[in-house]
Amino acid sequence: SANKSMFHSKTSIEAGDLSRDNMTAITITPGEVIHNKYGRYVHDDLIGQKFGTKLHSPPPHAGYVHLLRPTPELWTLSLPHRTQILYLPDISYITMRLGVRVGGKVIEAGTGSGSMTHSLSRTVGPLGKVFSFEYHQPRYEKALEEFASHGLDNVHLQHRNVCKDGFSGATDVEGVFLDLPAPWEAIPHAMKTLRPDIITKICCFSPCLEQVLKTVSTLRSEGFSDIFTQEVLIRTHELVKETDPDHLNSVSSIIDRLKAHEKRKVERRAVQMKTAREKIRRQKGGENATAIAETTESSEAGQKRKLETDGSKDVDAEEEEKPQAKDYTPWTEPETQLGSAVLTKPTPEMKGHTSYLTFASFYPESVRNAIAAQDSNKTAIA
Ligand code: SAM
Repeated sequence: SANKSMFHSKTSIEAGDLSRDNMTAITITPGEVIHNKYGRYVHDDLIGQKFGTKLHSPPPHAGYVHLLRPTPELWTLSLPHRTQILYLPDISYITMRLGVRVGGKVIEAGTGSGSMTHSLSRTVGPLGKVFSFEYHQPRYEKALEEFASHGLDNVHLQHRNVCKDGFSGATDVEGVFLDLPAPWEAIPHAMKTLRPDIITKICCFSPCLEQVLKTVSTLRSEGFSDIFTQEVLIRTHELVKETDPDHLNSVSSIIDRLKAHEKRKVERRAVQMKTAREKIRRQKGGENATAIAETTESSEAGQKRKLETDGSKDVDAEEEEKPQAKDYTPWTEPETQLGSAVLTKPTPEMKGHTSYLTFASFYPESVRNAIAAQDSNKTAIA
């Protein structure tokens, strides 16, 4: 694009612009055509359209598309996966906790599919710098090409094994983000890049607690402070619209209603299980029935496990969890009428484990000396 960064603020589409199954990223190329289940769209017809436009396909197709301005959030949802990637719940939390700011300098390793890189690039802006490192040659090359075509000029990408060879070229950084299998090997190298005059931060993203323990002990031995580990989980809240003023009179009547809803849900589940078992019994042939029974059992067990542990989306399971229309009125906007209210109840499971985030701060020498002096003063007084 003639516009440098893909995250521009233009209002209309131009040739060369990147726009996005349900979400597709496309580079607007005169002469090209997008043909999908939502219709047929000639790129030339998209040029000049305002971002945000809902565009209907010419007949005989009946679909439509929304033309969206590229953002790091949309890119994360539509990028080609070359590795596991970070999603916005983690990205936004890490960005905040690391204190990444406009004009700031940050390190990330490894680059992977560049999901995190795009968000960091936008956050630090044109005056900032993202030092990104990737040791896998094809991934490095692909990322290099992608960052150039997206105009991420503030990203300085290097092909390097940071655990072995460190973060050469990166200096005076304020924050370090490590998403690689052995962050503890990279921490001693990362320390050499930190800005010496302010409190700097590090975050290590690891899926297993064994990795977290190794990371924490390395952070300790290297002199980091304020070490803590967190994970970002999604907890949804069920909403009940209550309009009957009698039901709003006491907390106990509200609790009774929530309990009754929970009971109906458990009963519905029991009926579904019973129906499934009866269906299996009705199947002809012993072997066949066993096979089907096993399949059903394992898929039920699998579904349960899925809900309990990884929290990934399971459409059937989610359907089942949905309250019935007669129990809940769909919630649309906060109620303002007197005498009505929206009751909320957090769901018991929290979904979304991706990795543990271990954060730590590194204090400049002057601050460490001041703290040490204060501590020795206290000891003297005691
Ligand atoms: N955060 C990235 C994203 O959001 O797209 C995903 C990172 S991916 C899970 C981890 C990457 O780290 C892989 O591409 C891998 O090749 C790279 N990597 C692993 N160890 C490395 C090392 N020692 N030096 C540089 N890169 C490394």
